[in-house]
Amino acid sequence: MTAPIRTRFAPSPTGALHLGNARTAILNWLFARRHGGAFVLRLEDTDTERGVPGGEAMIYEALDWLGLGPDEGPREGGPFGPYRQSERGALHRERARELLESGCAFRCYCAPDELEARREAAIAVGEPTGRDARCRDLPADKARRYEAAGRTPAIRLRVASGPVEFDDFLKGTLAIDGDDLGDMVLVRSDGRPTYNFAVAVDDIAMEISHVIRGVGHLSNTPKQVLLYRAFGVEPPEFVHIPTVLAPGGGKLSKRRGAAGVLDYRERGFHPDAILNYLSLLSWSSEDGEEFLSREALVERIDLDRLGAADSEVDEEKMAWLSGRHLRAEPPERLARRWAGQLDAEGLGLTDADLRRAAEVFAKRTRLVTDAPSEVEPIFRAPPLGGAAARQVLWAPEAGAALRLARAAWEETAWRPEALARTLRGAMREAGLPGRAFFPPVRVALTGQPHGPDLGEVAYALGRERTLERLDAAATGAAGEFDTSHGGHNNGSNDGSNDKETSV
Ligand code: GLU
Repeated sequence: MTAPIRTRFAPSPTGALHLGNARTAILNWLFARRHGGAFVLRLEDTDTERGVPGGEAMIYEALDWLGLGPDEGPREGGPFGPYRQSERGALHRERARELLESGCAFRCYCAPDELEARREAAIAVGEPTGRDARCRDLPADKARRYEAAGRTPAIRLRVASGPVEFDDFLKGTLAIDGDDLGDMVLVRSDGRPTYNFAVAVDDIAMEISHVIRGVGHLSNTPKQVLLYRAFGVEPPEFVHIPTVLAPGGGKLSKRRGAAGVLDYRERGFHPDAILNYLSLLSWSSEDGEEFLSREALVERIDLDRLGAADSEVDEEKMAWLSGRHLRAEPPERLARRWAGQLDAEGLGLTDADLRRAAEVFAKRTRLVTDAPSEVEPIFRAPPLGGAAARQVLWAPEAGAALRLARAAWEETAWRPEALARTLRGAMREAGLPGRAFFPPVRVALTGQPHGPDLGEVAYALGRERTLERLDAAATGAAGEFDTSHGGHNNGSNDGSNDKETSV
């Protein structure tokens, strides 16, 4: 039986979750979901100087927004807790003692400044610096003397000379010489575990099967692999993924490519678009399809299709994907997103209004923040008193157009296509060209000379509002038109060369 798939995301709570880390979280989440495994959040919060207050909450907020809820973590709990590294110190020290007992590690009584002085001296004469371990085989009586003198030892790993080989899923087998690694410190003399020791101990304890992380961690991997060997444990699959670069190249930063995932939320991107986009940055689906739902990503994620090249963030593509994901969303859900953006109360919009608007206008948006500019002008009371509106409504045929539109729509099933169709029927009945028939209807509904398809506008406004607006405009409109005259029918009511000819 193969071990269950367990991946982990191990951020340090040092601030906003940037796109690179989010991509790491996404690949771990997708891979765990794909294989029915567990996605673990472990907070690497031992570096208290770099940690920021509220850092953990910021990570959760970003993960929740992206829909990457962990199966186990500081908030969720789980059988392998605690999930904050800072709460695991006792386990780290315990594991270090085991390595002392098995002889894989040794106590080193050299003070950090002594080690540093010797390191500098070695550099000065061009000698390798890694291998400075004069306590490696310290006789017991000497160790006792150090202890008596009040020295507390660090615990270091006995690292043999010769190549340390390790495997990376993308790069294959790599090696570094043990002398270059040196006898690395596992627990400092003040009792604090070192970074690589804590990571390896925790990954082992949490039974992590796949370590998917940024390529920047590649240099840590041989050190961690040595620890797996010292504990007699098979290392996990290490997958080091390439770097996410700012638009135009270079490191992501606040100024270059809105570093924080939640900045994209503020800017109105659909979270699934960020998920989709970041997945595709280093991975491509077999058929090259780029617009992929969360479910499709889970179904298709395949580490064999990971690329090794760094990639720059392309916000234009992200926005395109955001538009696609907004359109794919059920209108009820999109309406809820829009509700937070629009002046729904000021415009008197009900949930049903927003839902209908979402149904027809989603395709005109790419970002959630596009909603106000698309939706508010439609619902705002049309300014009929303005000169442009008056000019349209005082045209000789306007009154008849409005009345015929009203009569037709009164009977119509309230669906955008049906509304457009019956409006065209009313136009034919009026015997008017599109350029004479449609503008008064449009101005009556929105006060604007141009805009979306009138069937969609009416649909979004709803029956009551639409008929009211037609009535209100008809009251001010001039030019009673008798359809029996037929004189206005100039035969061009398909109006194919007219701007306002189609609904
Ligand atoms: N804590 C590390 C970071 O913030 C990740 C460690 C790992 O994935 O092994 O990048």
